[in-house]
Amino acid sequence: NRRYVLAQRPQGMPSDQDIRLEEIAQPEPVQGQVLLRTLYLSLDPYVRGRMDDTPSYSPPLAIGEVICGGTVCRVEHSLNEKYQVGDLVLAYTGWQDYALSDGEGLQKLDANMDHPSYALGLLGMPGFTGYMGLTDISNPQPGETVVVAAATGAVGSVVGQVAKLRGCHAVGIAGGAEKCRYAVETLGFDICLDHKAPDFAVQLKRACSKGIDVYYENVGGAVFDAVLPLLNTKARIPVCGMISQYNGHHSDHQQDRLPLLMSTILKKRMRVEGFIISQDYGDRYPEFYAQMSTWLAQGKIAFKEDIVEGLENSISAFQGLLSGKNFGKLIIKVAE
Ligand code: NDP
Repeated sequence: NRRYVLAQRPQGMPSDQDIRLEEIAQPEPVQGQVLLRTLYLSLDPYVRGRMDDTPSYSPPLAIGEVICGGTVCRVEHSLNEKYQVGDLVLAYTGWQDYALSDGEGLQKLDANMDHPSYALGLLGMPGFTGYMGLTDISNPQPGETVVVAAATGAVGSVVGQVAKLRGCHAVGIAGGAEKCRYAVETLGFDICLDHKAPDFAVQLKRACSKGIDVYYENVGGAVFDAVLPLLNTKARIPVCGMISQYNGHHSDHQQDRLPLLMSTILKKRMRVEGFIISQDYGDRYPEFYAQMSTWLAQGKIAFKEDIVEGLENSISAFQGLLSGKNFGKLIIKVAE
């Protein structure tokens, strides 16, 4: 029974000095508890933020605490009348093989579902995030230009496809030619640009000939610098994430650009709104689920997973997520 705990707070990219593997005895449930076997573990960018000891929307992980993460688990042993052995549940048990639960916060899944791991991706937290941030905060209208980076990832792929379903001009930004090709050919983006290209800002300007009405912010940094001058009056910016900054990388610009940002917000009368999916939209999950599962059944939404086998590969996979090596929703397959 393995588990990964926070050994020390990372400086920059998390390493195997920062995250420690521990071998412990398999826990035994007491009355009211279930023993959960992790089948799938979701690796998500926000976990990097939880490793830092800085004020945020949720408390930092403590040193020695199991690294957090959403999981799909199977009930292996039950002393809780609500759960039977073999039940499949959505849980939040993190980077470990087994965990105990008193049932609080578990969500039963259909044991026959085709893709149980979709509960961690398209039909779970990331899909919900892309859908709500786009539809509720920016409410894009037909013909408007919507731009999103990390366009082939768990959140961005949903943003782009929902923008197309709403009749928008969808411009994706992704790392490398293969991701860009997939964004256009499979996800249906009108165009997708490689942010690593030296003339990326010029390409973006050309692709957004009518300016940008909605910029769904996933990455920050150099991508945002290229977006800012192209934003239209009354543009909306759902601020979802800033992955380029999570390891403490700051842009090369030395000068203070806050005045430029604030004056652009003022002159273009823009709306910039941050959100945290669980805290702002928890009550709207059923509405999202009904819509997304319908689109999925109708073949209107594609979703790519990047499944890495073995809990022992979690650290390297997580490093890959923070440097663009994943291609699709990153999931660790822990057990059959
Ligand atoms: P993805 O599946 O999109 O994977 C992360 C991607 O980010 C990478 O594949 C890479 O894509 C891109 N990336 C990584 N490092 C950098 C960098 N330094 N500069 C530019 N791009 C980089 O992740 P998710 O879909 O799970 O998450 C996307 C964003 O949404 C994150 O910022 C995350 O924190 C945020 N989020 C926010 C939530 C909220 O409630 N506000 C909830 C869930 C997610 P590429 O190779 O294409 O550049």
